[in-house]
Amino acid sequence: LGGRIQAALGRLNSATTVDDEVLNLILKEICGALLESDVNVRLVQQLRGRVKQVMDADEAVGANRRRMIHKAVMDALVSMLEPQTKPYKMKKGQSNVVMFVGLQGSGKTTTIAKYAHYYQRKGWKTCMVCADTFRAGAFDQLKQNATKLRVPFYGSYTEADPVRIAQEGVAQFRAEHYEIIIVDTSGRHKQEADLFAEMQEVYDVVQPDDVVFVMDSTIGQAVHDQATAFKDAVPVGSVIITKLDGHAKGGGAMSAVAATNAAITFYGTGEHFSDFEAFNASSFVSRLLGMGDMKGLMEEVKSSGMLDNQEEMVKKFQKGVFTLRDMYNQFQTVMKMGPLSKVMEMIPGMSGMLGNMLKGGGEEGGTRILKRFLYMMDSMTAAELDGVVQLTPSRQLRVAKGSGCKPAEVEFLLKMHKQFAGVVQRMGKSGLMKGGDAAMA
Ligand code: GDP
Ligand code: MG
Repeated sequence: LGGRIQAALGRLNSATTVDDEVLNLILKEICGALLESDVNVRLVQQLRGRVKQVMDADEAVGANRRRMIHKAVMDALVSMLEPQTKPYKMKKGQSNVVMFVGLQGSGKTTTIAKYAHYYQRKGWKTCMVCADTFRAGAFDQLKQNATKLRVPFYGSYTEADPVRIAQEGVAQFRAEHYEIIIVDTSGRHKQEADLFAEMQEVYDVVQPDDVVFVMDSTIGQAVHDQATAFKDAVPVGSVIITKLDGHAKGGGAMSAVAATNAAITFYGTGEHFSDFEAFNASSFVSRLLGMGDMKGLMEEVKSSGMLDNQEEMVKKFQKGVFTLRDMYNQFQTVMKMGPLSKVMEMIPGMSGMLGNMLKGGGEEGGTRILKRFLYMMDSMTAAELDGVVQLTPSRQLRVAKGSGCKPAEVEFLLKMHKQFAGVVQRMGKSGLMKGGDAAMA
């Protein structure tokens, strides 16, 4: 989904003039991609309407028209991720009962640990109840997590009735005045009717304040039906998307929101407790479209220490200048520190270009690629590195020969540099880097 919308927006930028014909073509592509992802037809029509309106605006001329269309598309996508109904807000000084539902393997038990950890760090008294008696080892898994987090838990090895466990566990923790009581449920993939009946029974005895639907982002097209089925069985109040660390771009997020009319509150990006982040619709859309998440990127750059003791570099970023030599220096720094894949993922267009290479090879693969980049830059002249001369095709060929790399690799490197330089230029303009050290702190 992200890729197709991105391609359509690319067409917007490359068209010599943006007229009705071009716009219709782009809209057809974007709307088609959304509909195929099972995004609600009404929402897609809304997007179409909003974008078409832009054409009629007086100030929509020349480059401004492109910008306005681009923005209208982005805004419409963001609003698809922000339903009218607001998610449940935890209340201090009382027991908030949160029931987790979702298919087996979607990541419920893992997410519960992350969720508990998240609130625990914010000072909430949290605990867990294991009402999954279906999966062998379910209780052990929850218990292990809870023990690591030092969070109280409730469950049983002998009791086979999940409804009873849920009822007793929640009652006990309510009596002990726990603030956030998280209930894990089973999510077998067969016998769906059974699953839903059991879920409803647990719901009835537990009377949760919020029902969290956990959705695996890698399931693709199946999202809409799955989310609808859960929504029809219990009142889903919020959605958490898991496994966004993999190849999945998360287009299903819109479908899940559309199907449940519930907001996405968090997303998971790995198997560790800390691989968990609060959801922000506009950052998500930026990343979905491979345009990079500027704010996220800034955070990552700051926390990676890439800019520590690099006043020179910070000044350059503020000015919006980024030469090949700067990239060379940055890569050398990154080589020493890792983990670079996370940073690179956030660079505009980078996830698409580098994604598979870096992910496939893991951190080692990333280092190997980085080394090749450095070899190529080693074969460049000072004037080339400093951007004094352009790397013409014949110069590129020379660099390829000199470094033992393929011409396509040199081309790729230059393309990547262009992306980086674009980000830095935008950073400079955005003022995100202003304030020098203060902003870095
Ligand atoms: P449940 O059956 O819904 O309780 O799912 P589990 O919590 O047992 O998770 C199933 C598998 O998905 C486990 O191997 C988890 O480690 C894995 N998993 C869960 N969340 C994530 C995530 O955000 N990223 C990745 N890579 N794996 C995850
Ligand atoms: Mg589980």
